[in-house]
Amino acid sequence: MPEAALPGIHHVTALSGDAQDNLDFYVGVLGLRRVKTTVNFDDPTTHHLYYGDATGRPGTVLTFFPWPRAAKGRPGAGMAKAIALAVPEGTLPDWKTHLNEYGITDIETDTRFGASLLRVPDPSGLPLELVATPDAPDTPPWAERPIPEARAIRGIHAPTLPVFTEDRTPELFMDVFGWTQAGTEGNRVRLRSPRTGVGTTVDLLVRDRHPSGRMGRGMVHHIAFRAPNAEAQQHWQAILRERGLQVTDVKDRQYFQSIYFRDPDWTSGLLFEIATDGPGFLTDESEAELGHSLKLPTHLESRRGTLEDALPTLTPPLAAD
Ligand code: ZN
Repeated sequence: MPEAALPGIHHVTALSGDAQDNLDFYVGVLGLRRVKTTVNFDDPTTHHLYYGDATGRPGTVLTFFPWPRAAKGRPGAGMAKAIALAVPEGTLPDWKTHLNEYGITDIETDTRFGASLLRVPDPSGLPLELVATPDAPDTPPWAERPIPEARAIRGIHAPTLPVFTEDRTPELFMDVFGWTQAGTEGNRVRLRSPRTGVGTTVDLLVRDRHPSGRMGRGMVHHIAFRAPNAEAQQHWQAILRERGLQVTDVKDRQYFQSIYFRDPDWTSGLLFEIATDGPGFLTDESEAELGHSLKLPTHLESRRGTLEDALPTLTPPLAAD
């Protein structure tokens, strides 16, 4: 039998500007590992870059479609408001100094549910938050990162998702996914999966009105949740369809299998995905080689030369990347 609850977040995918700027920031400044360099399967002349811990375990993965010519997106309904990343408690002053050293000074401080956080936009304007939290993954972060281990990003803490008061998003998480309400602060409702660790929290910003959002550069494209295996994914696909949601068929994303759903009431227009944990990023290269070279799915391999010519050249920000 599949688990009764969805265990947590698998990855978050966003649209970025320049690919090199994106790589320099996430690897060179934040110290995540580039765990895969591939292309957007629907638009293979653009990259799809994946970052995470040493092997890109679910709950640590951020992925980007660099699309420099895209118009800047607009925050609002249907767009995640922020993505919080977990860092160890007591490390925010050092993080602030570190970011300042890279010329990043557009930083705000705040407190949420008793935890301190830094708010910092990525180079495309994607709102990130570094939250000091005891959340920790099962394994240590990437060994070659440019930041001391005591301070390294542990994974995804929580996305902040705008939802409308009358929408059924809380019901989706609590009655369907098996999550529970962990607290409220103002109009922020914190939901948590029964698991502990990174990627087990979502914050809903519940309001009567939100401005209408627009997809574009600096916006989260979708939030993916985990299914441990294909059987569990089919289970969730069936349950969502029973509830009347339009769910896609299973799509092969090479490193996981995916289903997608978006509904004006059930997800407040946000695009959600459920992705399998496997096969993972070690399916087509070794742990030592992760992210170093362009990986293509079999059906695009015959076009490798053309695609490599069309894609921008990426320079690793670190010797180890
Ligand atoms: Zn995805």
